[in-house]
Amino acid sequence: MPDAIVVGAGLAGLCCARELHAAGLEVLVLERGDAPGGRVRTDEVDGFLLDRGFQVLLTAYPEARRTLDNERLRLRPFESGALIRRDGGFARIADPFRHPLQAVQSLRGAPGSLPDKLRVARLRRRLSRFSLNELLTAPQVTTAEALRLEGFSGALIDAFFRPFLGGVFLDPTLDTSSRLFAFVFKLFSEGEATLPAAGMQAIPRQLAESLPEAALRFGATVESAVPGEVVLAGGERLAAPAIVVAADGPEAARLTGAVEAPAARAVTTLSYAAGRSPVGEPVRVLNGESRGPVNDLCVLSDVAPSYAPPGASLVSVTVLGVPPLADADIDGAVREQLRGWFGAQVNGWSLLRVHRIPFALPAQPPAALTPAERPVRVREGLFVCGDHRDTASIQGAMTSGRRAAAAVRGLDAAPSCAL
Ligand SMILES: Cc1cc2nc3c(=O)[nH]c(=O)nc-3n(C[C@H](O)[C@H](O)[C@H](O)COP(=O)(O)OP(=O)(O)OC[C@H]3O[C@@H](n4cnc5c(N)ncnc54)[C@H](O)[C@@H]3O)c2cc1C
Repeated sequence: MPDAIVVGAGLAGLCCARELHAAGLEVLVLERGDAPGGRVRTDEVDGFLLDRGFQVLLTAYPEARRTLDNERLRLRPFESGALIRRDGGFARIADPFRHPLQAVQSLRGAPGSLPDKLRVARLRRRLSRFSLNELLTAPQVTTAEALRLEGFSGALIDAFFRPFLGGVFLDPTLDTSSRLFAFVFKLFSEGEATLPAAGMQAIPRQLAESLPEAALRFGATVESAVPGEVVLAGGERLAAPAIVVAADGPEAARLTGAVEAPAARAVTTLSYAAGRSPVGEPVRVLNGESRGPVNDLCVLSDVAPSYAPPGASLVSVTVLGVPPLADADIDGAVREQLRGWFGAQVNGWSLLRVHRIPFALPAQPPAALTPAERPVRVREGLFVCGDHRDTASIQGAMTSGRRAAAAVRGLDAAPSCAL
């Protein structure tokens, strides 16, 4: 009998299992999918690396720093800053997180740009004085309210903050907690956004490598989890003194009955093969016009050339939510908008895949982040981890896994989360 069974081989489950294994415990990870990664998966299609939804690794994530071997991931950085589509052209915004004084200056024609510049600089200075833990326990409002309270102009919010943060939180309304805004602002200002050369799934693959092969069982769907035992689809029963449910929030709620199912943030990503890059630099392009289906796009092969075969480019387009449209219709709407941005070259792109992700992130309005670090012990012998226990991010998922491992080992006297 293993010492612990972990349900789910996403980042949280892998980090938990890795910690337990390193502490000398025998661990078995049960994953319903066919590979490690959960929401961080990459498919190879015709020589292109297609992440299941656009996402990036921030090098400033403390948990990634402590756990991952970045050199082996061969991280490729995005250029800081962004191009913003507005008024029929593209404006460049230098990195507002690291170089706030240049940043707003470079957003040509933005009304109120001087006060905005000073406000960004002031906010950056203030946030740099606090640790992540302090920011995640600070009083909170929604991000939209926080931006208003900081005094940012509507022009800067609509042209930059809404598409940028909307794309990070998958939340165009910016109802997300201001704790997450401060978290993201600080991390973007202290490190780089990157892609591993072999695709985002290189991250969970590296975590899985630190476990013995026999510790990972794929194609194993858990139907019920109680202290001491799990039951698989098909009826097989497996016992262990500690059961850790590392599934996404809604599934963890179903399996344990002890955590609340979070609301979903959804996203759709369209991947296109292009003969040449429409952007020509490793930078995000944000829709600052507040209309059309596209929130942002990026030519991933401009960031990491390994994402496309030689002579081709990979364009990744993010649409927030999952519109109830067939592939051809959403493709048509996206191309129509992008023809306005890049002209007729868009007609020559070929659609590689549409990824619809109805549950991409748990919604994290202020109430969901109270507190930001939520308990991982359900009751004696039953634990949970995942991004629904922490910030909805790679950092949050990984940290929650480590916290659950500590709780299994009795090192964490945190309260239980039973409803
Ligand atoms: C499109 C998209 C973009 C994102 N962008 C970013 C970004 O740029 N930066 C960032 O930091 N974060 C980003 N995230 C968030 C980040 O990917 C997640 O927070 C993180 O991967 C969640 O990991 P997890 O282990 O908590 O959950 P999951 O990855 O959901 O892992 C849960 C695992 O449990 C398995 N499972 C569930 N139920 C069962 C069962 N009954 N039996 C067996 N196995 C089960 C699942 O198959 C899955 O493998 C993004 C997410 C998405 C989807």
